[in-house]
Amino acid sequence: MVKLKKLHEFAVQEGIKQDPRDQEQIENQLEKRKEEFEDLEGVRKEEFDENKLENPFDDSKVLNKPDADVQKIAFGIDIETQDLLLLDKLNKNKENIDAVITHHPDGRALSNLYEVMKLQIDVLENAGVPISQAEAVVKGRVKEVMRGVHGGNLSRTPKAAELLDFPYMCLHTVADNHAHQFLKSYLENENPYTLKDLMDSLIELPEFAWSLEYGMGPTIFNGDEENRVGKIAYDMTGGTELNKDRLEKMAQSGINTIVAMHMSQSQVDEAGEQNINVVSAGHMPSDSLGINLLMDKAIQEFDLEVMELSGFKRVSRI
Ligand SMILES: [Zn+2]
Repeated sequence: MVKLKKLHEFAVQEGIKQDPRDQEQIENQLEKRKEEFEDLEGVRKEEFDENKLENPFDDSKVLNKPDADVQKIAFGIDIETQDLLLLDKLNKNKENIDAVITHHPDGRALSNLYEVMKLQIDVLENAGVPISQAEAVVKGRVKEVMRGVHGGNLSRTPKAAELLDFPYMCLHTVADNHAHQFLKSYLENENPYTLKDLMDSLIELPEFAWSLEYGMGPTIFNGDEENRVGKIAYDMTGGTELNKDRLEKMAQSGINTIVAMHMSQSQVDEAGEQNINVVSAGHMPSDSLGINLLMDKAIQEFDLEVMELSGFKRVSRI
């Protein structure tokens, strides 16, 4: 049993440890927010999300009942009202689910998703893109994403959770950071020679083996099985995908293969133009991997039970 807000706090700290940015940069960002908060007045100050002062992940938030004690958690990749109704029905059959976590952001965690995209500046820089180029690519896209989510019905599912009295939170980039670091060191160690070898390495991980059952496993979106892997870049964390103009910069920086959770058609076309191989590792298994690594740590810290739901495959490594 643990308070939902305590579990959230733990997830944020673990997310920071796996972040592609350095710790100092994160501290500077939080410091800047404190200064901005001091300057606010009236309703803007009252409604300010004070969790932003300690949590750099604006897409990972408690959305309902932070003080609730929770033990059995249902974790889904996307939670919508129908999932909450399903859980309510299961609880009527004595399942005793105490809380619900969605991976993909919802409510104020979705409206501020664009904030975490800035960590992709560091992901690009790590892949060899010069910092000024990386900043320009990310900044342009951040504004698009902000405008894109702004009109959505962001209070719908949080309200449903409130009406059904479910403690509810969202853990997105804190989990994706785990998937990013794990896959990076796993594939560096495996050192695959061809794209076929790379996919074989991925399906040795249980989440990716599971995903084959649904036809959502690792797939080549650009390139051929016998293509050499070369230098890899990872598209696993940082909110959502960048614009296709990054691919030219990545090609110039010597990237040969991108391992992504997913990739849109316009990006795949551009990767073709730039002769960059693209392996889509699979969205649900990649998200599941990050969540599993994070939940393994949480389970070692607190008395918790995790139930899989909505695209999430639970695999324990402890
Ligand atoms: Zn995802």
